[in-house]
Amino acid sequence: MNTIYVENEIKDNSRTLSILSKFKRSRILYINKYSEIFNKKNQSFRLQKKDPLLILAKKKNNLVLKAPEGFGIGANKNYYFSHMYNCIYDCKYCFLQGLYSSANYLVFVNYEDFLTQIKNLITRNKGKSITFFLGMTVIH
Ligand code: SF4
Repeated sequence: MNTIYVENEIKDNSRTLSILSKFKRSRILYINKYSEIFNKKNQSFRLQKKDPLLILAKKKNNLVLKAPEGFGIGANKNYYFSHMYNCIYDCKYCFLQGLYSSANYLVFVNYEDFLTQIKNLITRNKGKSITFFLGMTVIH
């Protein structure tokens, strides 16, 4: 990993530090918001896929979302969440590749906030069956 972008807000987060410790040779650049890099216009998905960057960020909104109507495996309620955008693989048949304009890996390090929202949804839906889908991209 040549370059890793890190949001200032999570630069001292223990998970951030743990991830960075695995990439001792990478160039670390600090940014305010992941969207500065991830949502840039005119990115080449195919070029980035050959040598993706890593972006470490904090997800603040919409951590756990309702799955689309009709999606599920039989539970009353279906939710999904992604603590990482984009996939480390490159399957030829993948219809999710290119979902984002960037092929860079975006990892949200605030896992605990995802867990809190999941617990809240379980409490709120007491007695109902719930499935949570975890996707590296979206629902997969
Ligand atoms: S999202 Fe799934 S199908 Fe697509 S590249 Fe990754 S592993 Fe392959």
